[in-house]
Amino acid sequence: MNTADLIALDRKHVWHPCMQEKDFEDQPPIPIERGEGVYLIGTDGQRYIDGVSSWWVNLFGHNNPRLNKALREQSEKISHHIFTTFTHEPGVELATRLAELTPGDLSRVFFADNGSSAIEAALKMSFQYWQQVGKPRKTRFVSITEAYHGETVGCLSVSGCDLYKEIYKPMLMDGFQVQGPDCFRCPYKQHRDSCNAECFENMEQTVAEHHDQIAGVIIEPLIQGAAGMRVYPPVYLEKLRALCDAFGIHYIADEIAVGFGRTGTLFANEHAGVAPDLMCLSKGITGGTMPLSVVITTDTIYDAFYDDYATLKAFLHSHSYSGNTLACAVAVETLNIFRDEKILEQLPAKMALIEDYRERFEALAHVGEMRRCGMVAAVELVEDKTTNAPYPWQQRKGLEVYKHALKQGALLRPLGNVVYFMPPLTIQKAELARLLDIALEGVIQTTT
Ligand SMILES: *Cc1c(COP(=O)(O)O)cnc(C)c1O
Repeated sequence: MNTADLIALDRKHVWHPCMQEKDFEDQPPIPIERGEGVYLIGTDGQRYIDGVSSWWVNLFGHNNPRLNKALREQSEKISHHIFTTFTHEPGVELATRLAELTPGDLSRVFFADNGSSAIEAALKMSFQYWQQVGKPRKTRFVSITEAYHGETVGCLSVSGCDLYKEIYKPMLMDGFQVQGPDCFRCPYKQHRDSCNAECFENMEQTVAEHHDQIAGVIIEPLIQGAAGMRVYPPVYLEKLRALCDAFGIHYIADEIAVGFGRTGTLFANEHAGVAPDLMCLSKGITGGTMPLSVVITTDTIYDAFYDDYATLKAFLHSHSYSGNTLACAVAVETLNIFRDEKILEQLPAKMALIEDYRERFEALAHVGEMRRCGMVAAVELVEDKTTNAPYPWQQRKGLEVYKHALKQGALLRPLGNVVYFMPPLTIQKAELARLLDIALEGVIQTTT
């Protein structure tokens, strides 16, 4: 198909995710033909550095030969089979290795096929657990403001981004939303590098008051991604773990975005030295090649479901593609790559390079701050730097930087006024510098 036909048929029949399709009148969708390392390559030959890991999924570059091989070899045996009364080696190996690698006594792996599905499963598990251990009033969940946990109805119920949630509010279940950390505009006038998570008092109050109705607290550890890569300190998670223990509620960690090395460690909870009761993983789990997700939990929770069939305590939850064999095979190879290619060991030099740009960004008249956690960084554009007043969202400042970057050969899809970087972990230093230079130039042009 030639490119013009492809775009014409796309505009006739395709409905793109998270998109006001009318925007395509200005800038039609860009057809990509293939990938090569950090580059997306268009049908016209144009190359784009994938600065956002194709929505935070890609870890080791596109068209990765090892992941391709794992996929090919598995596909020549079987691609998928029912996973309820059957099992397979890639699934068993993946579960075993995740049980070893994840913190604490997380040991039991439940498979789903995308991030939102994992969140839904974790919420249902937590809810059902309390029903089955004689605490049937514990039915509600606590989340924090600006949280993002996916787009399905259950996920939106525990999310805090009004942009995605507002219109659906009448459909959603009732929970508690607590004011979360807001380190850039900290109401306590503290700094995230030195504070003691004073803002945690909001969580303490809600939990102390309502713990008898609370099943669990769900949170994105260290980085609130969709909220604009809002980075907060590990001490918040330490306090959360202690609070959950004190009141007998589940700590549910949504590591869908931050897991698999993004924060510099394999899992973000390692920074706080704590382990959740339920942990959701997806996105990077297959290196960005296949849809797959898991909920990993403890024996304590698992055991509350384990009984004679007639007690009806089983977790009767499934998806057609639960435990997809191809996806599990690629996920195992993803863990092999972390081990064999010493991926985490190579990150500090790249983080230092990102850090080198902080002064340059923060010297600009309309940059409120540059924040970073591991290999994720964000530049927040502000209209007034003395008050940190944001640009009105209607001005779509971030989008201007995006358009500039596209022309320069980089994909930097913004989150409102926040331009962020979440490149594949294997990005080379020269590529990373190029990405940061393009962003710097884009911010200068857009804000002067
Ligand atoms: C992406 C994301 C989800 C949802 O995952 P999907 O695969 O898009 O459904 C949930 N939580 C967080 C933190 C995410 O970044």
